[in-house]
Amino acid sequence: MFDNLSTKLDRAIKTLKGQGSISEINVAATIKEIRRALVDADVNYKVAKDVTDRIKDAAMGRDVLTAVSPGQLMVKIVYDELTQLMGGEKQDIVIKGDPAVVLLSGLQGSGKTTFAGKLASFIKKQNRTVLLVACDVYRPAAIEQLKVLGEQIGVEVYSEVENKNPVEISRNALDYAKKNNKKVVIIDTAGRLAVDEQMMREIEAVKTAIRPSETLFVVDAMTGQDAVNTAKTFNDRLNFDGVVLTKLDGDSRGGAALSIRAVVEKPIKFISTGEKMEALDLFYPDRMAQRILG
Ligand code: GDP
Repeated sequence: MFDNLSTKLDRAIKTLKGQGSISEINVAATIKEIRRALVDADVNYKVAKDVTDRIKDAAMGRDVLTAVSPGQLMVKIVYDELTQLMGGEKQDIVIKGDPAVVLLSGLQGSGKTTFAGKLASFIKKQNRTVLLVACDVYRPAAIEQLKVLGEQIGVEVYSEVENKNPVEISRNALDYAKKNNKKVVIIDTAGRLAVDEQMMREIEAVKTAIRPSETLFVVDAMTGQDAVNTAKTFNDRLNFDGVVLTKLDGDSRGGAALSIRAVVEKPIKFISTGEKMEALDLFYPDRMAQRILG
């Protein structure tokens, strides 16, 4: 997925490898190339500038000029900065309450319903009882899709086909969960093709009514800077707790993974890497940085 970025970063840093003596000019050229590689990978320009400024400061502070292997030191500096850029430590989702509620938001096609199934399966494997709730009141097909996934992973799906009120459906689902001893409720909300005021109001109302311990925003990594902008819009309204980046198995250039944390100030918590239920990973900033640097 990060092939292009990895190649370009490698090329940028290589100029410092095997060089007998390097000058500030060499380092400045390398940093400029790193910045270009990040921008080419669809990293938000300001984020790319800030991170390369930090790389420059660290390179000077840690004496890259006189290091025995300046190339290696530079790799370490870039690795540290990319890790920090993506949030540093892994952040877990919070599953708290009786039942605990996880609310999912995002645009249509982002992979939200698929992720709902994956998360349910992930939580079920921890021996917790899960209820999936189909809260897309506009698309009966979305309810059907969740039912098919639920059957596949052995998790019950709650829906009310005739009810068009997502707040009511969510409340009823919580009552149902309590009566039926389901400890975790995952609510899949309606998505639209673009940000839409009614959708925002609806999901805000659901959030206020059911007070989830975790609200996640699901976004397609392939949409690059749009992913970051949409995340910002949703966060301004919803104040979500974390991001799920999907379709990282595709040819995403990596910009969303690298920029979202810095722009939205919310951590990525999961990455989705395929259509199958098993294709879900927790997000580790350091492992992702390692992957980018190859
Ligand atoms: P929703 O409209 O947000 O609920 O999106 P869906 O869950 O229906 O996903 C939209 C399409 O993307 C479907 O064809 C999914 O199979 C596919 N999809 C979801 N997640 C991934 C992923 O991580 N990788 C790939 N390649 N496809 C995915």
